[in-house]
Amino acid sequence: MIELTRYPVDRVSGSLACPSCHSAFEGAYECGPCAITGHRQGRRLSFGGFTDAELRDDPLNRVKETVKRRFGRVYPLTIQLVSPVLLRRFVRPFLASFDLDREVVADLGSGTNRYDPRLLCVDGGTYPNVDLVTDLRRMPIRDGSLDGVISVAVLEHVPDPQAHVGEMWRVLKPGGRVLCFVPFMQPFHASPYDYQRFTHAGMTTLFHRFEVLSVRVGAGPTSALLWVFQEWLALVLSFGSRRLYRAILPLMWLLSPLKILDVLLARHADAVAVASGFVIEVRKPAQPDR
Ligand SMILES: [Zn+2]
Repeated sequence: MIELTRYPVDRVSGSLACPSCHSAFEGAYECGPCAITGHRQGRRLSFGGFTDAELRDDPLNRVKETVKRRFGRVYPLTIQLVSPVLLRRFVRPFLASFDLDREVVADLGSGTNRYDPRLLCVDGGTYPNVDLVTDLRRMPIRDGSLDGVISVAVLEHVPDPQAHVGEMWRVLKPGGRVLCFVPFMQPFHASPYDYQRFTHAGMTTLFHRFEVLSVRVGAGPTSALLWVFQEWLALVLSFGSRRLYRAILPLMWLLSPLKILDVLLARHADAVAVASGFVIEVRKPAQPDR
């Protein structure tokens, strides 16, 4: 039986464990030997996460963080509207392949977004919708506990994507699946940092321990071109002034509706060459060798 009044974090209460040694908690969210304590407040269980300084280091990210805090719920929608990137429909179909009343799927790096009330939203930032605040490489979850994981536009922002993928492997049940989107052709965008891009083949390599079910274009060539073009145009029109560049850039979003061309172009078999990003679906084998 499901209790609809329970918070997502309560649905994994039997699977919570010390984020460091992974042994069951001794007291309430407490591991003595590791000197780690989690703090529960309403829907949220917190084990540290980002500091405010980390989130406000980069000027553009500082603006993003302020908007996220003030307009948490509308932030993802606003981004969808003004962004030059048209993401294809990949999250909903993936979630629809689970029975979310029984199976637990976590959104790792959810930010302020929530695709479904039954999802476990996990993030390093303490946003209102986040159920579990933690370092995504050291989650307070026992081995083999989750049925599914989504990770959308997160791994470019971490210095060690391998460690993140390794942690996904650890927390997933055998047969559990991951859906992961990462950019390929996108300009620098700190959130709070930005480290790398992945090719079509690079994604398969990143998830080499898993069975790869599919790698698809998650955002097409027009999205790639538009974002670069907007940045380029703002550089040209700002005549060397950083202030002017920052003032002009939002105006460039007027060009963003052209992204609609990707409805067709993203389907081209050769779109992989200049796609804005890729989405991979992988499965942890039912009988993993390790
Ligand atoms: Zn411990």
